[in-house]
Amino acid sequence: MLILVINSGSSSIKYQLFDILNGKDKSENKASKEDRKLLCKGLVERIGSEKSSLSHQKEGAEKIKKIVSVANHKEGIKVILDVIASLDNGVIKNISEIAAIGHRVVHGGEEFKSSTPITAEVLKYIEKYCELAPLHNPPALLGIKACKAVMPETPQVAVFDTAFHATMPAHAYLYGLPYQQYKTYKIRRYGFHGTSHKYVAIKAANILDKPIEKLKLITCHLGNGCSITAVENGKSVDTSMGFTPLEGLVMGTRTGDMDPAIVFYLMKKENLDVDQISELLNKKSGLLGLSGVSNDVRDILREMEAGNERAKVAFEVFFYRIKKYIGAYIAAMNGVDAIILTAGIGENNAWIKERICKEMSSLIKGCSAKVLVVPTNEELMIAVDTFEIVKDLK
Ligand code: AMP
Repeated sequence: MLILVINSGSSSIKYQLFDILNGKDKSENKASKEDRKLLCKGLVERIGSEKSSLSHQKEGAEKIKKIVSVANHKEGIKVILDVIASLDNGVIKNISEIAAIGHRVVHGGEEFKSSTPITAEVLKYIEKYCELAPLHNPPALLGIKACKAVMPETPQVAVFDTAFHATMPAHAYLYGLPYQQYKTYKIRRYGFHGTSHKYVAIKAANILDKPIEKLKLITCHLGNGCSITAVENGKSVDTSMGFTPLEGLVMGTRTGDMDPAIVFYLMKKENLDVDQISELLNKKSGLLGLSGVSNDVRDILREMEAGNERAKVAFEVFFYRIKKYIGAYIAAMNGVDAIILTAGIGENNAWIKERICKEMSSLIKGCSAKVLVVPTNEELMIAVDTFEIVKDLK
């Protein structure tokens, strides 16, 4: 069954086309490459500008890039469908061969505890949660509406970043605010990167050759955004990101945890309005703000080697926060079987694993825990979830 996965940003659309023969019915370690085949992937960028372009790569072939005119998301989807079904670079004959479309949607609030077919009502909720994910939900809506306009008969599925964390107990998701603030505004921990945490947790259980229902796992998604999740018996029981993706670890440009009183203090001292303080905390802080060098760990490491003290301290702050969360989640679950590192930073920096093993050796030995690097694949997880839902619709 051909599943198109769409990840819409404000001025870009990423896509991957999979052929899925078997979903969750077949356990991960038995699902072969033939069961879940990537056919092609690509990206439409700079939508709405004069420099909009398409990058497209057929599996096993060279990547192609061309300038295309793309005024909006609907045109972007048309460009993608055209190339997928084109004679020279395409992988299918006709777009009617695509059985379903799976969309990455960041925020599903409290309503969505799993992936769901997109109906008019579901669209209303995604719209409602634009307020909580202003950078992410609006472009997802654009992508969904564009697909609906171009392929009105094709089923569409929303796969939420928040859904995997819907299993968190109240003691993990409630803040110490008056309860009324939760009841009125739904202010609580939601958590993000759920699709990635779920994918690597399933993979780790397969590597360990144990049922996920019997494991305590700590999954560390360390990429541009960073979050850590405690996964007990296959369910998220706590996660470091909160009401928004600003909480938790120190990230490329985000502060992560800090005393909320700093917000009012800084607003007063520097006469900042709400948008300005939000920009400071979300875009100018973290590794970038601390180091003054870059938000990219590769640049920070280069500067560290050259003796840049601020780069060194920035990295130590970043690493120390990771260590503290791992320790906290070992306490929360009263043990751990494996700590899993994933995403750009987690997958490419062997010494993060080495430092965790060395600096947390007594905790790790005490639990007989393993530290694993497991590459994430959110798109494949979205395709498998979509397959499972659409298979049942038919
Ligand atoms: P992601 O959001 O998963 O794409 O991760 C992006 C981040 O991964 C970048 O900002 C880099 O800091 C980091 N990264 C990617 N590749 C490497 C690498 N080879 N070595 C160190 N860090 C890397």
